[in-house]
Amino acid sequence: MKKLEDLIITYKDFPKKGIYFKDVLEILQNPDIFQNLILKMSSSKFLKNAEAIISIDARGFIFGSAVALESSKPMIVARKPGKLPGQILTREYDLEYGKNSLSIQSNALKKFNSFVIVDDLLATGGTVNCVSRLLQDQRKEVLGLITVVELKKLEGRLKLDFPVQSMISV
Ligand code: AMP
Repeated sequence: MKKLEDLIITYKDFPKKGIYFKDVLEILQNPDIFQNLILKMSSSKFLKNAEAIISIDARGFIFGSAVALESSKPMIVARKPGKLPGQILTREYDLEYGKNSLSIQSNALKKFNSFVIVDDLLATGGTVNCVSRLLQDQRKEVLGLITVVELKKLEGRLKLDFPVQSMISV
């Protein structure tokens, strides 16, 4: 029988030479494993005291929205440039392979005070750090990160001033 680990496929040199890209999308083709994963993510102790989840564009949305449903928590999103209408707050960050920025809708953010971040993968930690800084600049509390995969050699969690729970650490 297949396990969660078997469904995380590594692509060498994608999207750039030297990157070992971990593709999590095959999880979605295996509903039993996907469901177990979501149950495990949703049982995270970080969620208990969080008012809301914030999930990160784009694969974070897949896991974040399933966790939001399972845990009955509201969810807001952090999106890449040019995607969000209305008043937004934006911050730049460095990726494992490039530069980007993330934005959050101000009106959505105003409604909640404490958050758990959900994403598919923690690499260098730059992306999650960007979201947490955006939140903390608005005096919001970040209680933790729940991620499917953590690339432990990159030590992304050392950049973060809150706990990390990863379902798989490679
Ligand atoms: P980082 O900011 O370096 O922690 O990168 C995390 C974000 O970039 C996540 O949203 C991932 O989806 C994506 N990412 C970075 N490195 C990889 C990788 N090796 N494989 C798959 N996704 C990655």
